[in-house]
Amino acid sequence: AIQENDDPERMPRPAAAKGRKSVAPQELNKGSKRLSCVVKPPNVPVKKGKFGEASRPNQKFYDMIQDFRETLEMTPFSTTHQVKPQKICVCVRKRPLNKQEVIKKEIDVVSIPGNGALLVHEPKQKVDLTKYLDNQVFHFDFSFNETATNDLVYNFTAKPLVQSIFEGGMATCFAYGQTGSGKTHTMGGDFTGRQQNSAKGIYAMAAQDVFTHLNHKRYANLELSAYVSFFEIYNGKVYDLLNEKTKLRVLEDDRQQVQIVGLEEVYVSKAEEVIKMIQQGSACRTSGQTSANANSSRSHAILQIVLRRNDRAATLHGKFSLVDLAGNERGIDVSSNDRSTLVETAEINRSLLALKECIRSLGMNSDHIPFRLCTLTKVLRDSFIGEKSRTCMIAMVSPGMASCEYTVNTLRYANRVKELTGNTKASG
Ligand code: ADP
Ligand code: MG
Repeated sequence: AIQENDDPERMPRPAAAKGRKSVAPQELNKGSKRLSCVVKPPNVPVKKGKFGEASRPNQKFYDMIQDFRETLEMTPFSTTHQVKPQKICVCVRKRPLNKQEVIKKEIDVVSIPGNGALLVHEPKQKVDLTKYLDNQVFHFDFSFNETATNDLVYNFTAKPLVQSIFEGGMATCFAYGQTGSGKTHTMGGDFTGRQQNSAKGIYAMAAQDVFTHLNHKRYANLELSAYVSFFEIYNGKVYDLLNEKTKLRVLEDDRQQVQIVGLEEVYVSKAEEVIKMIQQGSACRTSGQTSANANSSRSHAILQIVLRRNDRAATLHGKFSLVDLAGNERGIDVSSNDRSTLVETAEINRSLLALKECIRSLGMNSDHIPFRLCTLTKVLRDSFIGEKSRTCMIAMVSPGMASCEYTVNTLRYANRVKELTGNTKASG
């Protein structure tokens, strides 16, 4: 664990005090920010990599990171940890290196020492070409390493929110990160092999728990039914994934109630039905356009599980929105001459910034929610208001050195979402 040396029994720091720190190895033992790791003196001979000195493109950095890791005290993820429901929870998940990355001998620049901490070892070079690591520490509510399963991630992120919709609240869970970092894997399900195993994603696990609650005697007298809708926001337009990608209009009435006109909302009675819809919708999402994958990474997909009373008007009781956000790799397409690509990128950046503003308003219990900034926040408007609203953001990161810049970007964004809550240090 990253703890202060002088007080190892210290409780985890409160959310407001969490934040990013840049640490140079020689600074780790200084002052009150001291971390409980010992840095070896520089005269220790550099350990040879497993495959010999020049076997990877970045062997030197690899060795430096390995040496750094040996100084870290690792705390395994405690699955018995009590999950306290929070208004806003921000977590981070690191995926394993994939096959291609292993073949290319890509180096892993992200360490998860435990207790919500995450370190990025950013490889850098001085003007005199000396290589060094810029080690940056981030703190979140939970940090999941590459061995974490979707089950584990679910238990500490979306699961605590299911209860809140039964208590009449609105809940949202966002998967945020660059394309390829594991957003769809986490939300939609495991893609090992060709097929998506939708039963192993957070969408399906949440649905399963909704039915467990529905069948529980504690909620029986509420007389509730569950409904599901699944749609995509691409370039600010809404498309129904349960209805052949029909384009839908978003309307706001004079009471600021936002409606997606004609959105399919299907009554569901068991988890298997929801899993079928996830499969149907996901297939609809990735097909159709020329470059299937590129398209899905540029849209936000939203699965909503809605609880309604069994009365004549089917009154809304609670709603859980699970969102697989568009890839956040801003600027990547700036070199493109394709105007439509530029428009897409601008729209994605705009919506992700708007999302941050809305979560920030929720965290500050603000009366003014800037939901009109984009379609994403418009359709989620009712999730950002009220005492009973709860949000969880899972920031996904890729482990490779090639993704380092994007990883740091993702972590900064996630950090600001958390930093802004109940804290006046607001920035950006
Ligand atoms: P995104 O939706 O963020 O673009 P994906 O979820 O499609 O990314 O993930 C990219 C690839 O990495 C997929 O092949 C996926 O199966 C794999 N992957 C992502 N996260 C994990 C994980 N935690 N464990 C194993 N494989 C993963
Ligand atoms: Mg995806």
